Amino acid sequence: MSNKRFENQVAVVTGAGRGIGEAIAKSLAAEGAKIAVVSRTEANSAKVAADINAATPGAAKPYAVDVADFDAVQKTGDQILADFGRCDILVNNAGVTRDTLAMRMSSDDWDTVLQTNLKGAFNFTRAVLRAMVKQRSGRIINIGSVSGLMGLAGQANYAASKAGLIGMTKSIAREIASRGITANVVAPGFIETDMTAVLNEEVRKGALAQIPVSRFGATADIAAAVSFLCSPDASYITGQVLAVDGGMSM
Ligand code: NDP
Repeated sequence: MSNKRFENQVAVVTGAGRGIGEAIAKSLAAEGAKIAVVSRTEANSAKVAADINAATPGAAKPYAVDVADFDAVQKTGDQILADFGRCDILVNNAGVTRDTLAMRMSSDDWDTVLQTNLKGAFNFTRAVLRAMVKQRSGRIINIGSVSGLMGLAGQANYAASKAGLIGMTKSIAREIASRGITANVVAPGFIETDMTAVLNEEVRKGALAQIPVSRFGATADIAAAVSFLCSPDASYITGQVLAVDGGMSM
């Protein structure tokens, strides 16, 4: 018998064109899942889907959509359901930062981050939830942040979006618990990706000083937590926030 946990399952991973989402998509695929690789940029989704297909031919398809666009996401969701026939796992990982102090933050900085990080997760959940309810099974994982738990200076918009995800996740978890669907948040700390590569040395040093394990995390650390919450072992865990942050938010 195969010990792959996601054989015959279909996973939709947003923001899978690079960084944490790419690692999540590849690790779910390595355990047998078929993957809808979603990102904003066609070339990025196509590259990750090609990598997955090189290991497992036909396992992945690329999609390009702005998660903040409700109508476009419903269309992409319909296309994914038509292409794969089902949706077992949804990982809402697409996210952006527009960091600046609140007194300098523009209306556009606020809207872009809230629309992408919070509404984007709602949009994709809305697009696949009916299919999960019909199947009477599913896993929704929303990627939050340590910032949504503690607040971080310069991230009023981002922290609000990530804290908002927690309330949304708990509400949805209550709505669908009886249908065999769980919804949880994985809240990463500082993880080595393009998003943190832009931080200057002073900010990195300051962050490191706040991390009890004294290092930034790897994308694989987040992927492992997501896979666990998607697995049958986690069927009794719902509405929770799992911080994967080297102890930063404890
Ligand atoms: P990256 O910036 O490396 O990648 C972001 C991904 O999200 C890309 O694939 C990007 O698409 C996609 N994306 C961004 N905006 C949109 C949009 N409007 N529509 C569709 N896709 C979009 O980010 P990370 O991998 O670092 O972060 C992934 C998630 O983890 C985010 O939600 C982030 O907030 C969260 N996180 C990250 C932390 C870190 O330290 N890195 C810490 C805590 C949380 P494209 O490639 O096409 O641009």
